[in-house]
Amino acid sequence: MAAHVLDGKAIAAQVRAEVARDVTAFSEQHGGQVPGLATILIGDDPASAVYVKGKQKACAEVGMQGFNFPLPADVSRADVVALIERLNADYEVSGILCQLPVPDHLDGVELTGLIDASKDVDGLTPVSAGLLALGREGLRPCTPSGVMHLLDVAGADLQGAEAVVIGRSNLFGKPMAQLLLGANATVTICHSRTRDLDAVCRRADVLIAAVGRAEMVKADWVKPGATVIDVGMNRVDGKLTGDVDFDAVKEVARAITPVPGGVGPMTIAFLLRNTLKAARLQRPATVPA
Ligand code: NAP
Repeated sequence: MAAHVLDGKAIAAQVRAEVARDVTAFSEQHGGQVPGLATILIGDDPASAVYVKGKQKACAEVGMQGFNFPLPADVSRADVVALIERLNADYEVSGILCQLPVPDHLDGVELTGLIDASKDVDGLTPVSAGLLALGREGLRPCTPSGVMHLLDVAGADLQGAEAVVIGRSNLFGKPMAQLLLGANATVTICHSRTRDLDAVCRRADVLIAAVGRAEMVKADWVKPGATVIDVGMNRVDGKLTGDVDFDAVKEVARAITPVPGGVGPMTIAFLLRNTLKAARLQRPATVPA
């Protein structure tokens, strides 16, 4: 039987609607104030500008306040640091993100690390990564959080399940593995040096591919009945394609995400959810809920 295809667009729309409702409640509890998201965009990379615009638009749609700080490509490190310090101290700013990549004379990892952990809505600072590794309360990276939500909607039972993540980036693979471990899965992280990758993948009850190689995961890599999540985004002949051979794998898997329309829409939905969570962490309700 063909797999259940998870509709990431519809699931993300539900999350965004929930956030919008919770923003209204937050505002009622805080004298009309709403969570605020500050975006820092350095330089004129067109793709980054589109991403930031999308994030600001999504923010407005759920009733949050957006603050965008476009900076010239030759901005000094000192000026960016001063801006981050100002935003860290700004009561109206609940969440801050510095759009990556930044121009070569700046260090994106260093700059991101200066964001106060309570406002780190991308969940990428060393403090947030440490809190996740320790299993402590904190802001989690958006795409892995979105995948956990998709697995929940798919009804994937993670307790004691074999979960395999292909990809070990700080942005996705590592935090994804930590979240799965926190949900009591038995987790294997694969990468470019993994031996017998196809055999390791065949063990997986939950298989998550985040590599950046079009249609790398074949049907005979997948255990019948597995849940397959495709994080990959590859442009092939102008068409967006995932890391999974979707048409063949959907005949083997129990549930699968398409590309586009699977994991992609979850990222902004969880950025909004993180911004609300950050606002709540900074400003607990003054009026009973
Ligand atoms: P990345 O930093 O380039 O990491 C890719 C990972 O894949 C690395 O760990 C690499 O191993 C591994 N890899 C490369 N070739 C491999 C092979 N032949 N076999 C096994 N593993 C291999 O990428 P990323 O930032 O994690 O992103 C991965 C993909 O997900 C990209 O297509 C990206 O566009 C997409 N993505 C989508 C979203 C979304 O919102 N939908 C968000 C994040 C990422 P080594 O570490 O050994 O080099």
